[in-house]
Amino acid sequence: MRAEVIAVGSELLLGQITNTNAKFISGRLADVGIDVYYHTVVGDNPERLAQTIQLAQQRADILIFSGGLGPTKDDLTKQTIAKELGRELVSDPEAMETIQQYFKHVGKVMTENNKQQALVLEGATVLPNRHGMAPGIAIGKEDKQYILLPGPPSELEPMFENEAIPYLLSVYGRQDIIVSKVLKLQGIGESELEVRIQSILENQTNPTIAPLASPGMVKLRITAKAKSEEEAEKLILPVEQQIRAIVGDFIYGVDDDTLSSKATELLLQNDWSISAAESLTSGMFMAELGSESGIGNALKGGVVVYNAQAKVEQLNISPSLLDFHGIVSAECAEALAENVQRKFDTTFGVGLTGAAGPEPHDGQPPGTVWIGIAAEGLETVSYKLQLSGTRNSNRKRSVQFALHYLIQKMKEKKEVKY
Ligand code: ATP
Ligand code: MG
Repeated sequence: MRAEVIAVGSELLLGQITNTNAKFISGRLADVGIDVYYHTVVGDNPERLAQTIQLAQQRADILIFSGGLGPTKDDLTKQTIAKELGRELVSDPEAMETIQQYFKHVGKVMTENNKQQALVLEGATVLPNRHGMAPGIAIGKEDKQYILLPGPPSELEPMFENEAIPYLLSVYGRQDIIVSKVLKLQGIGESELEVRIQSILENQTNPTIAPLASPGMVKLRITAKAKSEEEAEKLILPVEQQIRAIVGDFIYGVDDDTLSSKATELLLQNDWSISAAESLTSGMFMAELGSESGIGNALKGGVVVYNAQAKVEQLNISPSLLDFHGIVSAECAEALAENVQRKFDTTFGVGLTGAAGPEPHDGQPPGTVWIGIAAEGLETVSYKLQLSGTRNSNRKRSVQFALHYLIQKMKEKKEVKY
């Protein structure tokens, strides 16, 4: 079964709201094994909506509409679909009752246009709205199914879950389900990853494997289709093992894991502590760790040392080091890491210094960043980044790289025997 999700609303096209309904509907359809081939967004315009319906009829079996069921003039979804399907609109007594009850309950006078909300397509299954007024509508014609849902997510989500999914399953029976597992990698580029796992990528059928790149990070999504979750997981496992055998060193987590959640997990598991000295990121590294629950047992504190004077006064960085090597240098990053580690008496100390951009800083081009990592019992290291993003994306990526190098150092520390 192929579905198309059609979100109706000019606000979506104007960029005023995000199409979370399409995301929600797609996620739930995947869970029950219905493939979504297209997401379409169309404004509150009857001609363009009619064209959208005609196009979707050519390429989908199930057309799911969100929005435009309300009482106002721009709410045209029902009227347009009724016209396309050659059906009359009739008032649904139960829906009318719900609407009247609502107005009674809130003590307001019901305006005439509200009656429009009780209109449904003749012969349709009415999907009750337990969180609002306009009911949803499900109707089959020829070999297609049409599902109409209200726009507000607080109404659409429970209606889709509790009314539309059971309706679709009763029409089509249970389909294969789709299960995905995402492997998250850091320290390897998308193209290198593709080359390394090329033979696996070329031979994929079920599960399928899709590399996804986002700034500073690569993910591999393994998706299996099967009769049950267990069966899907059985299909995923051997492929995951094959991938891990090749690029396992770069995989830091799966699914919802993030670099900061992984770093936190390692800190807590090993009873380690951490502190940070931040220049270009001015606290973002600590804020990222601070978002992890339980981090209070590991994150002792840190300092934002933005200018040279602060570096000297707060962390005893020697002025001659800054003069000689520069503020954006390996030496400065390492000194920041070591001195903050000492100041807070922690297992790890992280130092971040760089030219965030757009201007060069201390003679270094924008995007030049040095990350220092000091760890108890290990040699302090530093890494240079040459980023090419905007000021703020450079700052965010610096945090992600710092977490990545920190995790590497943690792994090294775990292997060191005292
Ligand atoms: P109402 O009775 O509230 O008018 P409706 O079914 O007519 O409901 P719309 O008028 O299209 O729906 O949208 C109502 C509100 O629902 C929007 O202002 C927006 O906040 C939210 N909404 C609409 N479409 C979407 C969407 N695709 N994703 C997320 N939210 C949406
Ligand atoms: Mg509306």
